[in-house]
Amino acid sequence: MSKRLFNFCAGPAALPTAVLEKAQAQLLDWQDRGLSVMEISHRHPAFMSMAQEAESKLRQLMGIPSNYKVLFLQGGATAQFALLPMNLLGSKTQADYIDTGIWSAKAIDAMAPFGTALDAGSSASGGYRTVPSQAQLKLNKKSAYVHYCPNETIGGLAFDYVPDTGLVPLVADMSSTILSEPIDVTKFGLIYAGAQKNIGPAGLTLVIVRDDLLGDACATTPNPFNYALQAANDSMLNTPPTYGWYLAGLVFDWLLQQGGLEVMAQKNTAKAQMLYQAIDDSELYSNNVHSANRSKMNVTFTLSDPALDGEFLQQAQANGLLNLKGHRSVGGMRASIYNAVPQEAIDALVAFMNDFETRHQA
Ligand SMILES: *Cc1c(COP(=O)(O)O)cnc(C)c1O
Repeated sequence: MSKRLFNFCAGPAALPTAVLEKAQAQLLDWQDRGLSVMEISHRHPAFMSMAQEAESKLRQLMGIPSNYKVLFLQGGATAQFALLPMNLLGSKTQADYIDTGIWSAKAIDAMAPFGTALDAGSSASGGYRTVPSQAQLKLNKKSAYVHYCPNETIGGLAFDYVPDTGLVPLVADMSSTILSEPIDVTKFGLIYAGAQKNIGPAGLTLVIVRDDLLGDACATTPNPFNYALQAANDSMLNTPPTYGWYLAGLVFDWLLQQGGLEVMAQKNTAKAQMLYQAIDDSELYSNNVHSANRSKMNVTFTLSDPALDGEFLQQAQANGLLNLKGHRSVGGMRASIYNAVPQEAIDALVAFMNDFETRHQA
């Protein structure tokens, strides 16, 4: 048995052990073909049917209607920040952007060369401890789309509602929340997510897009980044990230075996509640995000005495609890508890946190 420690990394993040074991068992000899899935043409019928099956499992898990295309792309969420205006602005020159933290701000910055990112609401003045309410949103009917980030991975801040944007398509960066709970896909014009948080390995990016939004890309859009062209070519306009696609398919299988996204949502809620409860019950740890907007995927907390941060991290690591350091831009701690992080990891983390606090009582 190899050693598997509890991994709270924000991304690339933990993958289900059962998935890695399956990939390991199939690594050298996939489907009795005498080669690895990494070593086969993406045009091979066996690869293409594996790829289609992965897509239909994702459609089943998320309830994706048939008028939505699912694209398996490269470039990460960061590439999509620029590809969204390139593909979606059409003849328009503006889009609405909600600012709730570092990732939504990066999406706003990336818009500049293509058009105007209008301020549709921001929680900056409150220190990103909450999200703008529906009533606070400033939406423009002439905008090409409304962009937001349902779960800010760095701040640990999440929307507790899906913005109603009327006829203007809603675009969501779901990199750190996709597949963590059921969603109503029909509320969105486009959903995108880098794979390395809750889908699979880095290198794969999912784009789920309503088909009426395709076909308006600006003329300078490189072909591999043109959503309509990729959709028309089943994401195989050029070589797709084949191993990432395969591994995502194994993760989709695993999620279906777990009982689907309702079951994952229950588990994720229980995990997050336990961790926030431990933080709220303690004198040493704190989290100041408004309770309704606390992320169930990325739990941030600080120690009342930051001089203890180094010791906390070092002892956590010694106890098999990895990657709890907060993002370099905000400091403190962050436990990312995506689908693949089991309840036992939360149990172990809470036990360690309580023990650490007892040993450091003032
Ligand atoms: C991780 C993350 C990104 C960046 O993803 P890359 O794949 O590194 O480009 C963007 N948005 C959110 C919400 C993220 O969590």
